Amino acid sequence: MEVHNNYNIKNDTTFRIGGIVEAVAFPDTIEELLSIINNYDIVLGNCSNVLFSSEYINKKIILTKKLDKLSIDGNKILVQCGTKGPIAAKSALENSLTGFEFLAGFPGSFGGMICMNASAHNQSIADTFVCARVYDKEEKIIKNFDKDSMKFGYRNSIINSSRYIVLDAIFELKKGNKEEIEELVNRNIEFRKTRQPSLKYGNAGSIFKNPQNDSAGRLLDLCNLKSEKEGGAMIFEKHANFIINYNNATSKDVLTLMNKMYSKVKEKYTIELIPEIKYIGDIKTEEYRLWETITENSKIQQK
Ligand SMILES: Cc1cc2nc3c(=O)[nH]c(=O)nc-3n(C[C@H](O)[C@H](O)[C@H](O)COP(=O)(O)OP(=O)(O)OC[C@H]3O[C@@H](n4cnc5c(N)ncnc54)[C@H](O)[C@@H]3O)c2cc1C
Repeated sequence: MEVHNNYNIKNDTTFRIGGIVEAVAFPDTIEELLSIINNYDIVLGNCSNVLFSSEYINKKIILTKKLDKLSIDGNKILVQCGTKGPIAAKSALENSLTGFEFLAGFPGSFGGMICMNASAHNQSIADTFVCARVYDKEEKIIKNFDKDSMKFGYRNSIINSSRYIVLDAIFELKKGNKEEIEELVNRNIEFRKTRQPSLKYGNAGSIFKNPQNDSAGRLLDLCNLKSEKEGGAMIFEKHANFIINYNNATSKDVLTLMNKMYSKVKEKYTIELIPEIKYIGDIKTEEYRLWETITENSKIQQK
């Protein structure tokens, strides 16, 4: 198995931000993943929803990129945790199955997408999810979780803690009309191209979650934050809930901008936005205070 000590994580993330990580492993099989899992701190997929610190990261990380098997049995699709959304969307289309059109052009892996209950264009992971094999780090056993056990919510599931690791999962789609599926896939890809930043500029998708019955992008736009810059980071000019890495941004640049976004919305609308992205960095660093400021409210809500 590929294991690197003092590994530069930057180019493995969609933000293209990050420093040196103590150790990073890339297991080739689920058995290899299980053999090391209790010695590692975090399991990540495609790193499309994370901001790594640009400073040294004193953590051991598993990246599931090589666990990317997919098989189809009738209307059912079985995926390993590292399989990427677009691969599954393509297989579903080839087999005239509807339910994965939203995954066309989607940068996540199934482990991350299940954890976050990824959704777009009126479809979500929870809609077609049947069950998953999950490793319980506390009890050190593999469990089978059905849909109810997953407790899917908005950008949330029971996996969104450090206790459970998704190994593989089964989804059940519906037979559909191939031309209609293809049309929807193309429409979704076009939507992303015109409304969201291209991955040419590093980004991690939406920065904050939508508050209930509102949109974080709308509130941030009303605060005139589009195109606001900090170092090499900039709020995307077409959608104020995206930050792009336009010129070698650091994690501090992004966290400083996030603080500005959070404070302006709080000041103007008394709404405390909750980050959708996750920050991976050392609690002892100065920049960690920036993260703490914007997550204070979400921690209180979780208590
Ligand atoms: C351009 C762009 C557009 C985006 N658009 C959308 C969108 O429309 N809708 C949406 O919902 N999100 C969107 N995102 C955000 C992101 O793609 C999703 O949150 C995705 O689900 C993250 O998947 P990932 O594999 O990259 O997860 P990572 O970023 O690698 O990890 C995210 C979380 O999942 C956990 N995780 C990863 N793998 C496992 C596993 N095997 N077992 C347990 N936990 C695991 C990690 O520990 C972490 O907590 C977008 C991001 C980008 C960059």
